[in-house]
Amino acid sequence: MTVALPKPQLPIDIDSIKGFLADDEGTALYHYALEASRLGPCLEIGSYCGKSTVYLGSACQQNGAVLFALDHHRGSEEHQLGEEYHDPDLYDNGVQLMDSFRTFRTTLRKAKLEETVVPVVSSSAVAARQWATPLGMVFIDGGHSEEAAQTDYRSWARFIKPGGILAIHDIFPNPADGGQAPYNIWKLAKASGLFDELPTINTLGLFRRR
Ligand code: MG
Repeated sequence: MTVALPKPQLPIDIDSIKGFLADDEGTALYHYALEASRLGPCLEIGSYCGKSTVYLGSACQQNGAVLFALDHHRGSEEHQLGEEYHDPDLYDNGVQLMDSFRTFRTTLRKAKLEETVVPVVSSSAVAARQWATPLGMVFIDGGHSEEAAQTDYRSWARFIKPGGILAIHDIFPNPADGGQAPYNIWKLAKASGLFDELPTINTLGLFRRR
C-alpha cells in the first residue's frame, strides 16, 4: 500500500515546463528534498528545461538550502537532431547543437529560484572531478546510455551523506518498457550495501544512504 503524498505548492505552472517527469514523481522528489536538504545541498543530474529543478529547488528553498543543477544542456542522445525527442525550439542553429540552458534560465527566473539553484553547465564527469561537498540528495536523470548512467552513479552517489537520498529516474525493470541503463545503476545501488531501498514511485527509484 502506498499513501499519496500531498501535491506541493509550486511557484510556477509545472505543466508549462517541457520535460519528462510525471506529477507523482515530481511530488515525491519535492517531499524527499524537503527532508534531505536539511542535511546538506542537493544535486540533480539532467536539468533539461527545469521541471525537476522546480520541484527540488522549491523544497531546498524552504530550508534555505542550495540545489546544484548539473547539465551540459546539449541534450541527451534522444534529444539530438533527427532523434525521437528532438525539440527544434531547443536547437541552437549557430553552433548546430542542442541548447536547453536559455530555457532553463527562464524557468529559474519565473520560478524565483535564482537564489536557490546553482546551475552547473558541464558534463557530469568534469563536474565531479574536483567535487568535495557532501550532499543531502542526489537525483540522477542524465543520459540513458550505459556509460552515461554508470558515470553519473559512480561520480555522485558516493557524496550522499548518511540519511541522505539517492533518486534515479526512468526505472524500467521490464526491457519492453524502456532502456535498462537507469535500472542497471538502480541494481548497483541496491547491491552496494550502502543504501536502504525505499518504495519506487512510478519510474522513480529511491534509496536512503545508510
Ligand atoms: Mg528522465
